[in-house]
Amino acid sequence: ADAATSLAALREMAQLGILPAPPTRRANAYFVVLLRNRELNQFMATMRQLEDRFNKRYHYPYLFLNDEPFSQRFMQFVAASTTSNVTFATIPTDHWSMPDFVDEKEATEARRRMKESNVIYGGSLSYRHMCRFNSGFFYKHPLLQNVDWYWRVEPGVDFYCDLDYDPFMYMQENNKLYSFVIALKELEATIPSLWQHTLEYMQKTNATSDLMSFFVSKTGNYNLCHFWSNYEIASLNWLRSDAYDSYFKYLDRAKGFFMERWGDAPVHSIAAGMLLNRDQVHFFDDIGYRHESFMHCPDTVGSMSMKLRCQCPKRKNFDSTEGSCLPRWKSYMPNQWTQRDTNEAL
Ligand code: GDP
Ligand code: MN
Repeated sequence: ADAATSLAALREMAQLGILPAPPTRRANAYFVVLLRNRELNQFMATMRQLEDRFNKRYHYPYLFLNDEPFSQRFMQFVAASTTSNVTFATIPTDHWSMPDFVDEKEATEARRRMKESNVIYGGSLSYRHMCRFNSGFFYKHPLLQNVDWYWRVEPGVDFYCDLDYDPFMYMQENNKLYSFVIALKELEATIPSLWQHTLEYMQKTNATSDLMSFFVSKTGNYNLCHFWSNYEIASLNWLRSDAYDSYFKYLDRAKGFFMERWGDAPVHSIAAGMLLNRDQVHFFDDIGYRHESFMHCPDTVGSMSMKLRCQCPKRKNFDSTEGSCLPRWKSYMPNQWTQRDTNEAL
C-alpha cells in the first residue's frame, strides 16, 4: 500500500509539473542572442530546449544580433522554431570596431604575444570585439531602450530542467538586478591589469558597495571569481545607468579589451561588485544548465530534479569542483542559500 501511495504521489507531482498555471503577468523582457550564421545548428538545439522547458508558455521575444547580416536560411529556421516574436539585427559598426584611441599596430602585437603564450582566444580580434560589445554596447540597441530585462543565451548551451516559474518576474518581484548559474575563476593571463584599473577607478569615484568583498582576496587582489555571462538574466536599466556606463568607458579608455583580452564576464561581475548590494544578485539554483564542460544541475538526487523533469547527464556538477566560486558564494550569502524545497512532497 505504501508503494502504491508514493507512486500516486509522484504521478500527481509530475502532473502538476506538466500543467503549470498559465502566467498571468509577464515582465518587460527579451532574450538577447549574439551569434554567427554558422552557429545556426547549435542554436536550434538550444532554442528547442529553451522553448520546451520554458518559453512555450511565456512567449518572451528574441533579439538576434550579429556583426554581419543574418542569412535568409538562418532567419527562417529560427523564426519557425518559436511562436514568439523574433527580431534580427546587424550591429552598428561603431559598436564592433577598434576605437581611435587604440593603436592598431600595438593591438596586433599584443595579440601576437598572447597567442604565443597560448592564452585562449589570445590571438583573436573578433573575440575581443565580442567581449567589448557584451561589456558596453548590446544594451544600447534601440529595440531594448524601453525594455527592463534581458536573458542572454548562447548557441550550444543546454537547459536540462523545466523552469516552472518566470525568472524575469522573480528578479522583478524580489528586487534583483543580476543573476547567475555558474560562478568560476577567470584566467589571470586574460586580465593582467583589469584589477589595477578598477582600483584606480574606485579611488576616483569613491565607489563602495557591500558586494565588492566577494571578489577580493585576503591580499587585496582580485580573487578571479566571476559570474559566467553566457547565461545571464539581468537588468538593462542597471547596465544603462550612468554608474555602469562610466565604469565601462573608463575600462575602454584603458584599452584592455584590445591590449589584453578582458572578458565581459569579469567586467559585469566586478561592476556588480562595485555598484550592487549582495541582495541584488541571485543564484538560480533550479536552472539546469551547461556551457561547454561546465554544468550546474539542481539537486540531482532529490525531489526537485524529478519535479522539474531534469535530464542532466551523469557528470559532476561544476559546483563542487576546484575553480568554482559557488562555495564562496554560499558562505558569503548564508541567508539566500536555502536549497529550494529539496524535501518537499517526498
Ligand atoms: P566563449 O563562450 O567565451 O568560448 O565564446 P563564444 O565563442 O561562445 O562566444 C560568445 C558568444 O558570442 C556566442 O554567443 C557566440 O556565438 C558569439 N560570438 C563570438 N564571436 C562572434 C563574432 O565574431 N560574431 C558574432 N556575430 N557573434 C560572435
Ligand atoms: Mn560560449
